[in-house]
Amino acid sequence: MQNKIIEKIKLLKKEKNAIVLAHTYQNIEIDEVADFTGDSLYLSRMAANTDADIIVFAGVYFMAETAKILSPKKKVLLPNMNSGCLMADMINLQQLRAFKQKHPNIPVVCYVNSTAAVKSESDVCCTSANAVEVVRKLGAKEVLFVPDTYLGSYVGEQLKNVKVITYPGHCPTHFSLRADDVAKMKADYPQAKVLAHPECRSEVLELADFVGSTTAIIKYASESSGKSFVIVTEKGVVDRLKRDYPQKEFILVSEKAVCPSMKLNTLEDILNVLEQESNEITVDADISSRAYATIDRMLKM
Ligand code: SF4
Repeated sequence: MQNKIIEKIKLLKKEKNAIVLAHTYQNIEIDEVADFTGDSLYLSRMAANTDADIIVFAGVYFMAETAKILSPKKKVLLPNMNSGCLMADMINLQQLRAFKQKHPNIPVVCYVNSTAAVKSESDVCCTSANAVEVVRKLGAKEVLFVPDTYLGSYVGEQLKNVKVITYPGHCPTHFSLRADDVAKMKADYPQAKVLAHPECRSEVLELADFVGSTTAIIKYASESSGKSFVIVTEKGVVDRLKRDYPQKEFILVSEKAVCPSMKLNTLEDILNVLEQESNEITVDADISSRAYATIDRMLKM
């Protein structure tokens, strides 16, 4: 059954000049039909460089919005319209404006995990891979960081001369991972290196041997001479590491490390949206051009 769906998707991609993007947190079988896999900004940038007419973004809503902002002429489809990022949805335009009013004349750095509207009202965007660098290059004494308080706090700890004022948003999946979970795994696997994502709580990061984005975690694990790793981020990363580096051992820190929104997308959903060209993502033209400028500022940095 699954093989038939995969074959149909591949056929439709050719017929309709479509590509499928799969985020690293997706159900791993989606990689079978993906043209590109990786983190959200990488995927949107790769898609923008293709001549595809249709982009199916197997990820969450803000990622499809970002793809649309970078490829305004392409049709962007989201396999499952319920797959919203819970962290991105913790701040809307009104809440951001109130946050700015409370802290006037301070530049706003928005994590890419934010809505197009929030990006349009921010000064510069960042990813978990470049957040420290973006804030450093901004050269401001104070910055507002939205929506992730943990990534913002991590940036503040790395840059002691910048006051990072964070909005109280978080990723519920990474927030659910506790220092106790990491401590237990360190005790069970004393030889393993602990690799953690900066969306985790500060006390979790303190126990890690390495802190980095999903892409950086994968790179570290693949290049390290170590043989065993406790992975403190979403389960999809562990699934792919196990598949791609079977000679090494990867341990998921906790069964709680699953993003329910990401896992909503299925192969059936991808087939449906490709057949019907449904679930199209649109972004208001004014918001799109201002959000593009915010992303572009980051890229130029
Ligand atoms: S893991 Fe967290 S930040 Fe990432 S998409 Fe899911 S809810 Fe959003």
